[in-house]
Formats: sequence, structure tokens, C-alpha cells
Amino acid sequence: MIQRILVTGGAGFLGSHLCERLVADGHDVICLDNFFTSQKTNVVHLLDKPNFELIRHDITLPIHLEVDQIYNMACPAAPGHYQFNPIKTIKTSTMGSINMLGLAKRCGATILQASTSEVYGDPEVHPQVESYRGSVNPIGIRACYDEGKRVAETLFMDYHRSNKVDVRIVRIFNTYGPRMHPFDGRVVSNFIRQALSNEDITIFGDGQQTRSFCYRDDLVDVIIRMMNNDSGFIGPVNIGNPDEFTIRQLAELVIELSGSTGKLVQRPLPSDDPTRRRPDISLAKEKLDWSPNIALREGLTKTIEWFQSINTDDYRPPTP
Ligand code: NAD
Ligand code: UDP
Repeated sequence: MIQRILVTGGAGFLGSHLCERLVADGHDVICLDNFFTSQKTNVVHLLDKPNFELIRHDITLPIHLEVDQIYNMACPAAPGHYQFNPIKTIKTSTMGSINMLGLAKRCGATILQASTSEVYGDPEVHPQVESYRGSVNPIGIRACYDEGKRVAETLFMDYHRSNKVDVRIVRIFNTYGPRMHPFDGRVVSNFIRQALSNEDITIFGDGQQTRSFCYRDDLVDVIIRMMNNDSGFIGPVNIGNPDEFTIRQLAELVIELSGSTGKLVQRPLPSDDPTRRRPDISLAKEKLDWSPNIALREGLTKTIEWFQSINTDDYRPPTP
């Protein structure tokens, strides 16, 4: 059935791919973004589609629309981006969620929250299961993001319990792919950009910390599945690729795939940087019949090709 769908943060890395898929599936898509960490170029190819609209708006302010589904993707996601204006980051997750939940309540829309593995902080449980309550430093430099997303989950559950809003919560683990902002400071974009210009590859700390990287197509697939499941399953559910790599292994793979002559160099580890991260995706397998298909080598190859095709001068740092 054709739905009227709002995607907040729809011009961002993940949001733009989601919009693309929903438009291709024939839905009426409203992409809403304040372009804090993204550019219009991410969705410019959709502008001439009759079932696509773009609105410049900030979700910390209310908006009146008529929709059936809302994907709440708006929030800076890279550490450098969310720490640029930490108070705004918390406002986006808290006031923004309240505004979008209010909209969902008025319209009777289903609303999905893009939560994060960061709700587990620097985890003592490995791999991370949804029942683990996390270990977040509430006064650290990552807290504006982690705690904001934790409050957002609380708001979603309270609107569900108190106001019967139909909610979904997905906890997204590190996701990468074409259209990542080349200067977002995330490890995949940094390493590829550095490798392609034969610069030093900056490993923070000793590079033994781990992450598990999911390719964006796998991610878009499962969040659409989660939104449309009508079994009563609302989550939270971990979404990610459980193949775990050290950051040093990632650097070596990027060098191999790009043929870079860049050397590995060590830089100080930022504070509160999680030591290990890997999703337990049993719940997603059981409830959504989903597991990722694209291995890191394949996804990185496609991402490197995309980085080779862009002009990085077209990308600017976040603007307030
Ligand atoms: P992104 O920075 O590319 O996208 C976020 C988008 O939200 C951008 O277009 C930005 O301009 C917009 N935005 C930010 N604040 C806004 C506001 N107040 N009002 C309107 N728009 C606003 O990041 P992404 O990687 O595409 O992440 C999308 C979502 O997924 C985020 O909510 C993020 O927390 C979540 N997530 C992503 C990852 C990942 O690895 N990519 C992991 C966990 C969670
Ligand atoms: N990292 C790194 N070099 C970089 C950027 C990041 O070694 O140039 C490390 C970072 O310290 C962290 C991991 O890579 O341990 C993932 O960082 P990212 O910012 O991509 O995501 P997050 O920490 O939010 O998972």
C-alpha cells in the first residue's frame, strides 16, 4: 500500500538512501532536513520525482504535516559532528523526538527511532544484547549523543505506553557506504580519504579497539522491514553486522583495497572511546528474519569507488 512517509534527516547519509528506496517503491516521501551535516546534493537526483518533496526544517521546532509513517533519522551521528554543538545535539534527540512523537500521535502514524549502539556506552557485555542496559559516562564528551539517544528511547516508550503511539526502535551499529560525509571524522571515511590521497592513516590509540561494520544497503533493508512488521514487535532491536574487526585490521584492509602508499600512524585515543563493539543480532534474525549480506571487503570496495568519484571540495564542515 502506498504510504505518506516523512524521513527526518532525509538528506543525510542513511536518510538519503532510505528516501531513494521509499521513492523507488512508489511511496509519497517527504524528506525533512536542516542540512546541518549534509548537503542537498545527496537528494538532488530525487527532486524531479513527483512522489518526493524536500523541506528545510529543524526538528527541534514543531511542524504540521499529514503522514502515515515517520522515520526519525535526524541527528548528527559522527563524533566530530555531534560534539561540534553538543547542546544542539541533545535538543535534536529530545525536543526533536517530542515534536516528531507529537506529530505521530496527531496523525496516528507509525514512528521509527534511529537509535544507536552508543546507548551501550563502553560495554561490559560482549557481544551486546538488547537487554544490556549499558555503561555510559553521563558527563563525558560523547554523552550529548549517547544520553540524548537514551532519552529519545525513553520518550518513544512513554508515548507508546501513555498515548498508544505505534513506535519502533532500532539500535544501529556502525554503518558505512557511499554518501558518507568525507570529512565527518568517522573511521571509514577518514581512512578511505587518507588512503586515496596517500596520506598517513590515523589510528587512534593502539588500534586494538573493535567495531563491527554494516553496509548501508543491509541497514536500509532492515529498517524498512522493522517499520512495516505488524507482529507487534516494537524493539529495541540491534541492527548491524556482527563481523568484528580491530581498527588496525580495518586500516590494513583499506590500504590493501585502495593500493595506498599511506603509512599507519598513531594518534591519541579520544576519551570514552568504546573498547569493543559487536551486535548480537539474534533478535533481528528471529523477529525480522534478517541478517546482513554484504561483507566488509565488498562494502569497502564499493565505498572506495564512490570516494574516488566525488570531489571532496564540494563537502563543507557542519554549519550551525
Ligand atoms: P548524517 O549526519 O549523515 O545524517 C543526519 C541528518 O540529520 C543530516 O542530514 C543532518 O543535516 C540532519 N539533522 C541533524 N540535526 C537536525 C535537526 N535538528 N533537524 C533536522 N535535521 C537534522 O548521519 P547518518 O549516519 O546518516 O545517521 C542517521 C541517523 O542514524 C542518526 O540519527 C544517527 O544517530 C543514526 N545512527 C547512525 C549510525 C551510523 O553508523 N551511520 C549508527 C548509529 C545510529
Ligand atoms: N578512529 C581511528 N582513526 C580515525 C577515526 C576514528 O582510529 O581517523 C577510531 C575511533 O577512535 C574509534 C573507531 O575508530 O575507536 C570508530 O570511530 P568512529 O568515529 O567511526 O565511530 P564510533 O567511535 O562512534 O564507533
